[in-house]
Amino acid sequence: MEDLSIFIPDEKITEIRASCSLIEVISSYVKLTKAGNNYKGLCPFHEEKTPSFVVSEAKKIFHCFGCGASGDVFTFIMKYERLNFQSAVRQLAKRQGISLPEKELSPEQRKRISEREELFAINKIAAQFYHEILLHNQRGKKARQYLQQRGIDSACITEHCLGFAPEGWNALLQQLKTGKISLAHAQNIGLIIPKEAGHYYDRFRDRIMFPIFNMAHQIIGFGGRVIDAGEPKYLNSPESQLFNKRNQLYGLPAAAKNIMQHNEAIIVEGYFDFLSLYQAGIRNVVAPLGTALSVPHIVILKRYTANIVTVFDADSSGEKAMMRSLMPFLENGISPRMVLLPSGHDPDSFVRRHGAQAFADLVKNAIPLLDFVLDQTMKKFPIDTTPGKIHASEEVIPLLQNITHELERDLYIQKVAQALGIKESYLNAKVEKQHRAAGQPFSAPHTAPRPTLVTGEKAERLILELMLLHPDIIATVDENSFLDEFTTPELKELGLLLCSRYGQDGTITITDVLQSVRDEHVKQFITEISFKEDCGASPMKILEDCIHRIRLGKVRQQREDTKRLLQKAEASHDEASCSQFQRAYQQLMDEEKRIQRFRITTSEN
Ligand SMILES: [Zn+2]
Repeated sequence: MEDLSIFIPDEKITEIRASCSLIEVISSYVKLTKAGNNYKGLCPFHEEKTPSFVVSEAKKIFHCFGCGASGDVFTFIMKYERLNFQSAVRQLAKRQGISLPEKELSPEQRKRISEREELFAINKIAAQFYHEILLHNQRGKKARQYLQQRGIDSACITEHCLGFAPEGWNALLQQLKTGKISLAHAQNIGLIIPKEAGHYYDRFRDRIMFPIFNMAHQIIGFGGRVIDAGEPKYLNSPESQLFNKRNQLYGLPAAAKNIMQHNEAIIVEGYFDFLSLYQAGIRNVVAPLGTALSVPHIVILKRYTANIVTVFDADSSGEKAMMRSLMPFLENGISPRMVLLPSGHDPDSFVRRHGAQAFADLVKNAIPLLDFVLDQTMKKFPIDTTPGKIHASEEVIPLLQNITHELERDLYIQKVAQALGIKESYLNAKVEKQHRAAGQPFSAPHTAPRPTLVTGEKAERLILELMLLHPDIIATVDENSFLDEFTTPELKELGLLLCSRYGQDGTITITDVLQSVRDEHVKQFITEISFKEDCGASPMKILEDCIHRIRLGKVRQQREDTKRLLQKAEASHDEASCSQFQRAYQQLMDEEKRIQRFRITTSEN
């Protein structure tokens, strides 16, 4: 369901993209004005006063220099309309009058679709019933008082369509019967439960009701909370053809736009945490439905932002939940941050006591979740003893193995080795082995709001820029194996992709390259440089210059390293090493001079 690109042939996608004017499509959402070869406007994905959102008709891409949002016409529709790829393709195909090879629906499929619609309709009826009782019915009085006492105002109740399922066994059942609703369907989505032949009773009784919406603003299920003591405290709709709680985040439909605007999502534990923050004006927030954070949760959130902050309750179960949540993040190449609330608080109580600004400050100062988890894990063991060191390292190795970004991984390995007082090489060997086997492509850390590639080696970036803007130099890069000299893995990876594309098609187009890249930051990097003005200098000349700089940088680094070793050897009067390092140092000096001479010859050509 998620990705029909399997069913829509690539040629169709290319045809649709080629047939649309990107300017025309985006102009129906954003006011664009001409600026040089491109068009400019206020970015629809973050708040800004001066335009940093640029669209190129020729290249068929857009890029925001403010928030990094970027992509082609499909990405724009997906982001703006909050659609999946399949639906975005369909929408544009319809707009362009291009027919998609659609399989004729079988009577069976048609029946399933109309049944789904009916199930949504029943959920809506139930939500309205519960909502009405909460707002106006005598039976909802204690729920009204309860919400008031928890500081939830009526605007918030209305916006999130909160309700109350009254006491007794058949309040909703009666309502459904008077509406002539199929009770079998209502049972199907868990609103009522069967007892003896043909009889039912209400699942939700004496509970505050939280309808759970999907991105199309349809109700897929409910969460219900008891007011007084009672078990279970929270009760969700059972799994059904509409509802799968592992894939759902409470509040996402309401929060998605804010998440994109802030380029940050805050994850809290419960419905009331969500509501209190939302009401206090912190609206880039979501909550899982009483389940642990799962990989599907992170996959969904990643569509909106890579910057995620978790804020769990300041108690031992909150701490455990936070520890457990790390792995799904790492598996998605995301380094989340975390807020540790003052003891005894949850986000709800904190924001009510200290206000939105204090909460925002906590989020601003959030620390990497990985730091916290590693610290806590090591604390569990007596790491000043040998068995303690062994157990602690066994426990942290799987975490380290899942850090996809190479430099980030190295730094954490260093840190852990130091903390445990063990050899870095030991951890390295253990971690690397696993990581190689996994072979993960493109992996930038996702904590920084700017693409990390920007901090990569400058000359390497420049070479990729040339390859993207002047594809004809790709052959030269390939033939001379210049990419072998790269030290930034992400850039090298992208370079290799460009070479292979060029080798296949004899040219490259930005949109095709974007389609082959999965990492958001790499995508941003590509679109950003696609908008660079041509400086007019010969690309070949710049390429030579870059290679020269890379080689010179490398040999200088080696010379510096050798110098340090030499000084160390001198200090310890180790004469044999001294003369060895001196020789090496001299060789590197010669090498450096040779590279410099090489440069002069080529520049004179
Ligand atoms: Zn933007």
